[in-house]
This record gives sequence, C-alpha cells and structure tokens, in this order.
Amino acid sequence: MLIACFSFQQSFTIDTFALDSFPSNIILFIGDGMGLEQIYFGQLVEFGFTNSSSILSFPYTTTVSTVNIDGTTTDSAAAATAISTGVKTTNGRIATNWNAKMDLTTILEIAQQNGYVTGLVATCHLTHATPAAFAAHDSSRGHYQEIAADFSQTNVSVMLGGGYEEKYIGHYISEFEAWGYEFVQNKTALASVADTPVLGLFTGGSFPPLNTMLENSTIPTLSEMTIKAFDLLNSTEQPFFLMIEGSQIDWAGHDNDQIYLAHQIIEFENAVRYAKTLAEQNSDWQVLVTADHETGGFSVEDYSFQTTIPLDNDSFTEKLNKRTARAQEVEVDWSTGGHTNTEVILAGIGPFTDQILDADHHIDTYSIMRQAIDGETDPIGSGFYKGHLPLYVKFLIGLASAAMIGTGSYFILKNIIKMKRKGNRKMA
Ligand SMILES: [Zn+2]
Repeated sequence: MLIACFSFQQSFTIDTFALDSFPSNIILFIGDGMGLEQIYFGQLVEFGFTNSSSILSFPYTTTVSTVNIDGTTTDSAAAATAISTGVKTTNGRIATNWNAKMDLTTILEIAQQNGYVTGLVATCHLTHATPAAFAAHDSSRGHYQEIAADFSQTNVSVMLGGGYEEKYIGHYISEFEAWGYEFVQNKTALASVADTPVLGLFTGGSFPPLNTMLENSTIPTLSEMTIKAFDLLNSTEQPFFLMIEGSQIDWAGHDNDQIYLAHQIIEFENAVRYAKTLAEQNSDWQVLVTADHETGGFSVEDYSFQTTIPLDNDSFTEKLNKRTARAQEVEVDWSTGGHTNTEVILAGIGPFTDQILDADHHIDTYSIMRQAIDGETDPIGSGFYKGHLPLYVKFLIGLASAAMIGTGSYFILKNIIKMKRKGNRKMA
C-alpha cells in the first residue's frame, strides 16, 4: 500500500505497513500541558463548529488522573515517568522511583528488548523532561549532561528535536556519530536522510514558537518530523515504538498566551491526524494520545468569529494569520501560570486500546502499550540505582561481586570433588 503524505513541502511517502498483528507498532503522542479545553480551543480556531479534531474523534477516549506519587500536582518528569514506566514517582525524577534509588525500565527499553526500533520526536531540546523519561534514568530532570550521556548509549534509532548546544546534547554529538548516527541540523538535510540511526537537532535549545516561524524556516515542524520518523522507522521492517511530544502547549499555558497556544495545539493536531489516518488503514498500529498534565487552568469563555477558518489551499502566511486572528476572537480565561490537577485525555486506536475505557491514571497508559509489545502489564524496576555512581565505586562493586561469585564457585567445586572422591571410594 502506498500512502501519500499531505500538505508538506517535502513529499515523503510511506509504503508497506503490513506487519503481523502482534507485536504492534506503537505511536504515543503526548501534548505537554494539554487539557481538554486546549484541545477544544484548537478545534474552534482551526475547524470552527464542526467536530473535526482528530484528537477528539478516536474510537476510545477517556480522561485520566495525572497526580504524582505524593497525590499532588505533577510536573512533566513525574508524569512522563508514570506513562513510560507504569510507576508513579516524585516530581523531577527521570524514569527512577520516588527516592531515585531504583531505575525503572521504560516502555522504549522494553520495546527494544523485544526487537523494536525506537524513536523520540519533540519540539523542545530532547534532554527536556518528557523525552528524557523514555530513554534516560536520573534523579533530576535538570541533569541534562547525564541525560544526554544516557541517550548516547540507548540506541534510539530516530531522535529529532532541539538541543545542539553544549549544555544539552552538543557535548555528546561526536559519540552519537561514533555509534554510526547521521547528524543533521536543518529541514533539507533531514529530508535527504535515508537510513537509521539519525540524530536531528535543529535548534541550540528548544524550537521557537510556531507563530514566530517563517515559511522558509530551516526548522521542521512537528508533523514533518513525525512523517520522517514514520518513514525511517518503517523502512527498517521491524516493529517500532515512537513517542512524539507537542512540547510547547505547556509553555503557552505558562505564559497564558492564547495565540502561542493555538498554533502549538493545531500543529500537534496535524501530527496526530497523520498517525490516526495510518492507524485506520493498518490494524496493527496502536496510536495513543494523552497529556502529562494541564497547564494554566485554561477555559474557553465565549467567541465571536469574524475571520474564516484556514483552508487547505491557503498559503502558509494566510493560514498563520487566520489562526492568529481567530485565536484572538475567542474569549478565554486562565486561572494560573502553573500546572493543574485537571484530568487529561487518553484516546487511542488499535490493539488493546479498548482498555482505555478502564484507565484511571497515566500508569494505565503504560499497561496498554506494554500489552501490545509482549502481552505483559507490570512495571519493571532494576533494583539498585547505580546510574551515576563514581567509576571507582562501580569498580569496587564489580570486584566484590566477582569475589563473591568466585568464592561461591570454589566451595561448590570443592564439594563436588569431595563427593566424587567419596563416590569413587565407595565404588572401590
Ligand atoms: Zn510546565
């Protein structure tokens, strides 16, 4: 089957999505800070009064609690950890338990152990909390260097986003290249990538707000990165896991900026629409859409539209201007500049997504994905957190383990020899 991609300057095409029904391809969308009202707002601005939001029209939809292990308002790190590992934790943790004594195996790692190729796509710097919680383990979301170091060892086939500055991933780019990664820094270079693994970092830090980006920007959009990620991962002919984050819906919420919000949520909507269309044609695709938490206590109060909705054949600038104008024509309210405890959407299509109807919390999202990989549901902790111990401590632990194993083997061997001798004597 050949599926032509729509509405992008680079025309990527994707073919042969025929995999057996198990394991499934898994595509997880996370709208950072995306409450239900934010989705509704995006629909109003982009489509008017038709129910055209792809996020709101999945076969299975519910709302889930986002609270962290303390029962309080989550940050992106604790929420992403709950989604990626099935374990609630404290704010700030990156795929580690509440006291950071234990590494938690992420769904991306479990997918890799089961023969999947994997990808991470975001519009923030990739060492930011949400992508980090899928491919790194750390006590703190602020440890960008340690997170980048984990990334460089994790074998994620497609990594697209921001962060080529030294303080994020820059220091580790040469390590990625040594592993065979192709490193690209602009949209044109990305379009010509033909193989995995690839590391695409298009900005020093995070992407600029979409409403400030120009048509000829060298930075790809979230949809363009999503399509390219599908294209590359699918060409490996292995099942794939891909996490795609709409990172800046949250930042628009922190800024209480409805124009910034409109552009970010509509772009996220575009990326989701593309994946949903493919999932509708491929029964072995599991596509999930959720948010880590709501940001801003946002609500739509009233609207009076003078500007018509953006049309497919409008130019880039016409679409941009219409979205901005229509966003301003909605009267909104913000109750905070921070995160809230409001429940967020969990929607999906594909294998095991009927279980969405029983989901209560982020940790259930993990179970739904996990089942599509290996039929299991339980979280996995690796017992002892040794991620960032000094090298000499790791060496001493290794030495002690070797000594214990060595001593144990010696005594077992000695007893076997003893028993053998006894046996021989008896026989004699
Ligand atoms: Zn936030």
